[in-house]
Amino acid sequence: MSEFASARTPGTSKGTVTLVHLYPREMSIYGDLGNTRALASRLRWHGYDVEVVGHAPGDPWRDDVHLVMGGGGQDSGQARVESDLERIGGRLVELAADGCPMLAICGMYQLFGNAFITVEGQRLPGLGILDVTTTGNAKRMIGGIVLDTEFGEVVGFENHSGSTVLGPEQRPFGRVRAGQGNNGQDGTEGAITGHVVGTYLHGPILPANPALADALVGWAVERATGRAFEPEPIDDTYADHARTRQVRRLVAATRRR
Ligand code: GLN
Repeated sequence: MSEFASARTPGTSKGTVTLVHLYPREMSIYGDLGNTRALASRLRWHGYDVEVVGHAPGDPWRDDVHLVMGGGGQDSGQARVESDLERIGGRLVELAADGCPMLAICGMYQLFGNAFITVEGQRLPGLGILDVTTTGNAKRMIGGIVLDTEFGEVVGFENHSGSTVLGPEQRPFGRVRAGQGNNGQDGTEGAITGHVVGTYLHGPILPANPALADALVGWAVERATGRAFEPEPIDDTYADHARTRQVRRLVAATRRR
């Protein structure tokens, strides 16, 4: 069976989505560029065209944006993008408030918050899109992680010195079933506000978690076309098998501790 059995006449598109990847050279460690590839593939499998734009420091900001992806980075990479992120920050805040779907991973998640104070004490101001504040630790939080979220169970890999605390009204992205999460203490992981998801999960997170990927795709399609998302049946057998095996292994390891 093909990727999907579509009644569409080949060559017709249901619409075009513009996906912007923030700082693909400076902020895409641990395979996070794979999230952009996964989103582009799933959009095409669902019958939509996609334009992928890599935003580099100094590039003009586009206004026809329907989906934003940002990956992780070392403290130094985060510092390198700081001034450009401040330059486009107002547009990102407006887009987020207007319902534009965004996925911010690890270092970008931290910069979508209020601030990231690095382990050396450098204060990197954030955009305040998510009400979270992060402080670097000498001890890094590294390993596989399993979450319970509104998109079902989600699995990934975390590696961060940052310990993140949620503001009083900030919803977490998920609850930790195995792993560390925001700070290894309060059982929360990531943050979600509207259609903006911040999370520490690398992997990349999206290929193994198609329900989360298609939530972002659906929000982007509705923004781009003004119509309801019309998903095609996609065979996610391999993704589901990979996720289930990871979840079983990580949860069992947690129980043995
Ligand atoms: N530099 C940040 C930290 O160490 C983010 C790391 C990352 O993006 N993986 O917490």
